[in-house]
Formats: sequence, structure tokens, C-alpha cells
Amino acid sequence: MSSKLKAAILIVSTTAAKDPSKDASAEILKDVLEREGGGNWDLVETKIVPDKLDEIQGALKLWFTKQVNLILTTGGTGFATSDNTPEAVLPLLQKQAPGLVHGMLAASLSVTPFAMMSRPVAGVRDNSLIITLPGSPKGAKENLQAVLKTLPHACLQAAGMDSRTLHAGGIKKLESDAGIKSGEAARTHSHGHSHHTHGHDHGHGHSHGHNHGHGHGGPVRHTAPGANPLSNDPSLGPSRRNRESPYPMLEVDDALARIRENTSAPVTVNARVDRSLPGSVLAEDVKARANVPAFRASIVDGYAVVVPKDGNLKGVFPVVSVSHAAPGEGFKHLNEGEIARITTGAPLPPGATSVIMVEDTVLKTMTDDGKEEKEVEILADGVKEGENIREVGSDIEKDTLILGKGEQISAVGGEIGLLAAVGVAEVKVYQKPIVGVLSTGDEIVEHDRPGELRLGEVRDTNRITLMSAAQEHGFEVVDLGIASDKPGTLEETLRDALRKVDMIITTGGVSMGELDLLKPTIERSLGGTIHFGRVAMKPGKPTTFATVPFKSNSGERMNKIIFSLPGNPASAIVTFHLFVLPSLHQMSGIEPAGLTKVPVSLAHDFSLDKQRPEYHRAVVSIGKDGTLSAESTGGQRSSKVGSLKGANALLCMPAGKGPLRKGEKVDALLMGAIRTEF
Ligand code: AMP
Ligand code: MG
Repeated sequence: MSSKLKAAILIVSTTAAKDPSKDASAEILKDVLEREGGGNWDLVETKIVPDKLDEIQGALKLWFTKQVNLILTTGGTGFATSDNTPEAVLPLLQKQAPGLVHGMLAASLSVTPFAMMSRPVAGVRDNSLIITLPGSPKGAKENLQAVLKTLPHACLQAAGMDSRTLHAGGIKKLESDAGIKSGEAARTHSHGHSHHTHGHDHGHGHSHGHNHGHGHGGPVRHTAPGANPLSNDPSLGPSRRNRESPYPMLEVDDALARIRENTSAPVTVNARVDRSLPGSVLAEDVKARANVPAFRASIVDGYAVVVPKDGNLKGVFPVVSVSHAAPGEGFKHLNEGEIARITTGAPLPPGATSVIMVEDTVLKTMTDDGKEEKEVEILADGVKEGENIREVGSDIEKDTLILGKGEQISAVGGEIGLLAAVGVAEVKVYQKPIVGVLSTGDEIVEHDRPGELRLGEVRDTNRITLMSAAQEHGFEVVDLGIASDKPGTLEETLRDALRKVDMIITTGGVSMGELDLLKPTIERSLGGTIHFGRVAMKPGKPTTFATVPFKSNSGERMNKIIFSLPGNPASAIVTFHLFVLPSLHQMSGIEPAGLTKVPVSLAHDFSLDKQRPEYHRAVVSIGKDGTLSAESTGGQRSSKVGSLKGANALLCMPAGKGPLRKGEKVDALLMGAIRTEF
């Protein structure tokens, strides 16, 4: 086996052919080939075709000519009318391989009786081995794992390698070459991975750099990851559950990209211009409905005048009327030689051409009752028309653009006042999603339940934290309560919630315990797609992002989002800010989505996690010289509630041997207002 074998993946799915982001299988199969394929496979092509016989065959035939060794198809193997992958493949096969089919079915049947509903075929054409895998990412993965170890051998034979040479060492040698133990069922353990990453999460017990071995360590692992994928079917009980997460570990940026791809575009709605508007983003350009000011107004207290040709107003004038800011009075026409007392902001009487400030005048005579001015002397000459007057529309002219589509109405920037001033009472904005927050876990009790906790009970910390955070960011929140770790209960709760909210955030139940039901419930019961189930980060590794199909009362089909965050309170709040917020922002048209990132310098040494980038909860403050510095809020163990206090930022610490030294620069994601140090 000098060079690698060529593999290709054909995704058969009408949905994925329209929208490739709907496909989750290719990535997972690729991952299995890479991680568990013993370095034998080179994935040369991946293609998506709809459930059409001729298109499936077309793709396969092209690959036969390219001498691809292994062709995996995924999808179209069920009983639905549109399922016709086996029908497309069978006529092309020169040799059928019922043994491989049997191996796959046996493996799947041990997981679920529904494997009976799969109709896989396998066989050889020219020099290629073709295997049809089911369409569900999990099923496809399990089937491939069941036969993977035998495939290099099968492919070499199919490609024409002399079978005498191949079989020279007998069955024992074949098995040991393939990494299979004698008698071992095809579906079980995969040994011999190429990478050994040890998951030691050293406890960051103290904040100032000395972070090792202070009792409160992270989980300690003694074996390498990658072994023994079983099933996430909760009905199988603890002895048959996965012992290793079957979800590929994504980098944070890739996880964010999947969130972007699978979060729907904002929906436009009409909104009234009132106090609930700030935080919304405009879905239209807004023009001034009226001139501001709407009338010619004085900008001083003084006297409206009619400026004579020579501009000389020196002399004594009769005060013929008064114009206050109060509207609606009948205004008398002003003639040359008359003046009218006027207050700031009041409309000019018709005929007036300028306003003289009260400071430029002297009171000459009073009315007989002594209550009113009768004559006033003006001391000004060289007066021009229009002095001390705000012309109609001089501030904002009717029909000019005042705010653009995509601009956010802030509560502090004055946008709301601008809308009010120009007479806009309703605007089109992007609808803000309604967020439901659910805690899960049999041990979780209401935080305010009277009385002491019983052994094992934990006060619900996450729900109130996340509801407050979402609300603080301006989103309407629905309290979904606490769901117990029973498959039926969880499914019911989620189905119910889907009717009420646009996005569900759950916490707990995404680790690897047998009661961790979120992923299987989303995939198996709700028919959802898990876009990622593990992220290379600390804290928050099991963060899960899924979409589930939903049909509204009006029959409209859509996808709703479920974020299943880890149960540990620190992980939950970090992953909310890092992953959930950008999705909420995208749904509401807020750009850029997510927290603001600023460079800060470290106020002390920080130790690093060797494997995973860490989002370190910290306090960022501004010094006298205007520089930003960051201090840890203390122990960062994901379950450590104490370290939640006071953090206004998440520091983006890279993975590495570390430590990062005092004074070094890192990015900080700002969750709250910056503190002042002085
Ligand atoms: P899980 O992912 O369900 O295994 O939860 C991981 C840890 O987080 C366990 O110690 C849980 O008790 C804890 N936990 C889960 N949900 C909550 C919650 N809502 N409030 C506080 N702690 C929680
Ligand atoms: Mg739990």
C-alpha cells in the first residue's frame, strides 16, 4: 500500500442539491475517513445530486472513468417514493457485495430496529467499490464505521491487485493489517488513530498565573479520544451509549461560520416610533415627512421687524402685536414701521423679514394701564433681511433621507428624536427574534425554591442568567422553565416551545452522560440537523447548534434554531455571548453581529490551555493614559460560579504552552461597559 486510495462522496439529496448548507453527512464521512481510516484514504471529490436516477448514475459513471477506488453515496436508501439510490446503483454493479451490506445492516440493527428500513447495496464496477450509506449523518457514519476497516483490502482487490499476494499472510494477517481483532464484530472499536490528544484540562484555580494543581482541577482523562463510537439512541441505556462524542470538533471560527450560514435573514415588520423602538434596525430608508422647522421661527427674544431698503432701523417703533412660542394665535400682518414682540422659537408674523434682539432695544413708552409695551426704540442699523430667523426646512428639508436602511436606532444617539421631529410615526424594521430559555436536568431546581437543597440538587443558575442577558440585549424572552432528563418530557417541551419562540436556548444535557438527551432528541425526535456538537474551546466544548424544521399554523415551513449550551454556568454564559448573540444579531439585522472586539494588554501573567483556545472572563479597565488593560476574574473552571462576578469581557486567549506575560496584547470581547482605573 504505497500510495493512498482515492475516495469520493456522493450526497444524494434534493434538499442539499438546492442548498448545500443543508448537507451534514459529507463533513462527517470525511471526518471518519480521515480520523478512522488509518491514513489510507484521499478524499478526491464530493458532489451533491438530487434524488434523480440519471443524475446519480451520471456522477458515478464519471468517477468510474477517473479510477476512484471507493465511492460512498449517502441518502436515498429508504422507502420514500423519492428514494432511489439503490435503484440507480444496482444496474451499474458488475459484482455485488452482499457481505458489506450485511455488515452494515448488522451494525445498524444493533443500534435501532429501524435499520430494517434501510436498503443498502454495495458492489464493484470497473475498479471502483461502491457503497450506499443512509442519508442521516449518524446512520451514514455508523454504517461506514462498520465496514471501514475492511475497505482498503476490498478496494485493492477491486483495483486488480493479485489476490495471492493480498492473502499471503492468511486471515490473521489480514485482520491485523486492518486493525481488527479476531472475532470482533465489524461495528466495534476503532483502534490505531494517528493522533493522540490528551484532554487534560488543568484547573485554573488562581488568576495570577500560577494555575496548576490547586485541588479544583478540570476533568482528567487517561486515554486518547477517538475510540468506540456506539450510538446516541437514548433508549439503549448507559451500556450502549457513545463513549466518545461522535460530533467532529470544530474550530470556533468554523462554528461561527455555520451559525452564519444557518441563521435566517431578518424579517421586516412595521413598528411604531415609541420607546420600544431603540435597538431595532431599520429595514427601509427613512425620509423626512415634513420640514424642520415647519415655520419661520425666531432664534432670539426680541422684535420682529420689516427691514427697510437701507437697513437702517434706528428709531422709535410702535409694538403692534406679540408672538409667543405658543402656537395657534391669529397673526397680524406686520407693516414697515411697525414691530412685534417675539420670543425664541415663535413663528414670525406674516410680513416680518428680520428679528432684532431685545439687547439692541430700549423700552420707550408703556400702555396707559402700564401693563404692555407701547413703543420701543431700536438701536440697530445695517440690518439685513433674515437675521435671527430659522427658515422653513433649514434644519431638515422635507423628503431628505434622514436614516438609512440597516441603521440601528439607538437609545442614546438621538435617532429616535430625529424620527419624532420629522413626523415619522411608523417605520419598517427587522423583527427581533423571541428567545426561549430552558434549563434541563433532573437535579435542577428553581433558584428561589424555599428550603434547603437535598443531596444532588442544584439551583437553576443558567436560566435566570441567560434570560437576563438576552433581555439586556433587547430581545423578548420566554421562560421555558426546567425540563427533566426524560426523553418524552424534553421532546414535548421543545415542541411546545417551537410554537412560541424563534430560537430556543437550552442548557445542560450536552455532555457525554447517559442522560444527556439534547442531541438525540433534536436529531431523532424533532428531525433536526445538528450543525455542530463540539467546539475546540474552553469553556464550552459541548456547545451544540441545531436547526429543526417547523411548520407554522399558516402552513409555512421554516427552520428554527436551537442552541444547546453546556450546563456549567460559566460555560453557558460564555457560549451565549460567543455564539448565541451573533445569531440573534443576524436575525435582527444588527451589524456587525456579536460582541465588540478591542485589543487590551494583560495586567498580569495568564496561563494558557495547551490544546484549546480559552475565553477567559476578565475585567477590562481604562487607565489614565487611555490604554485598556485586563485582569482575570479568578478561577476559570467552567463550573465555578464565583468567577462570573464582575466580568465585563471575554479575553480571547490562544491555545499554547504559555503563559502569556503581563503587558502582552490579546483581543477582548466586550460584554459590558469598560471600567475606569482612576
Ligand atoms: P450537564 O451538561 O447536564 O451534564 O450539566 C453539567 C453541569 O452543569 C452539571 O454539574 C449540572 O448540574 C450543571 N448544571 C446544568 N444545568 C444547570 C443550571 N441550569 N444551573 C446550574 N447548574 C447547572
Ligand atoms: Mg444534565
